[in-house]
Amino acid sequence: MSKIIGLTGGIGSGKTTVANMFLELDVPVYIADDEAKKLMNKSKIIKRKLLKLFGDKAYVNDTLYKPFIAKKIFNNKELLEKMNAIVHPKVATHFKRWVAKQKAPYVIKEAAILFENQNYLQCDAIILVVADEDTRIQRVIKRDNSTKKQVKAIMSNQWPDEKKIALSQFVIKNNTLPNTRKEVKKIHKKILTTICET
Ligand code: ADP
Repeated sequence: MSKIIGLTGGIGSGKTTVANMFLELDVPVYIADDEAKKLMNKSKIIKRKLLKLFGDKAYVNDTLYKPFIAKKIFNNKELLEKMNAIVHPKVATHFKRWVAKQKAPYVIKEAAILFENQNYLQCDAIILVVADEDTRIQRVIKRDNSTKKQVKAIMSNQWPDEKKIALSQFVIKNNTLPNTRKEVKKIHKKILTTICET
């Protein structure tokens, strides 16, 4: 069974960028948010429950209508939690099946929320990606065409870095891409020689 390495970091820290660097090293990568979105469109059970929670406007042409959902859950923690309670158990099962099929010594599970929901406890080690808050905000504004206010609202639902650093085995400061790639290679070797050997 492959070891499970969690990869997390706040919005805009560079998780996905780092995940792609591991993929280049032939490490299987599971992007939890992408898989959740796919399951929301594919799973009949999820669909039925979300329609019940949000109403008919949640799906357009059989596809989850994200702007409607985003508007509904923005500033409504209770609704967000109800949605998570529908989607997360299905993602957890899907992930377990995916891991069982992998043959690599370890896999990466990338998720924005890993500590906040206790999922880190199912990982053999955690890699945390960090960057200054201002840098992160600027990167996300550029990537998503969003506003500073929107980025800050998402950040407010995520733990601060200090709290996450204390629980992580590896921390990558994502300043320049060449530096980050070097760090990724170092961590890859370390995981293979330490965590995968136990
Ligand atoms: P996350 O998945 O943590 O939200 P991303 O990996 O999508 O973050 O990175 C946010 C944005 O910043 C993306 O557009 C990405 O291309 C860019 N980016 C990531 N790392 C760097 C870096 N070291 N230097 C410059 N831009 C970066």
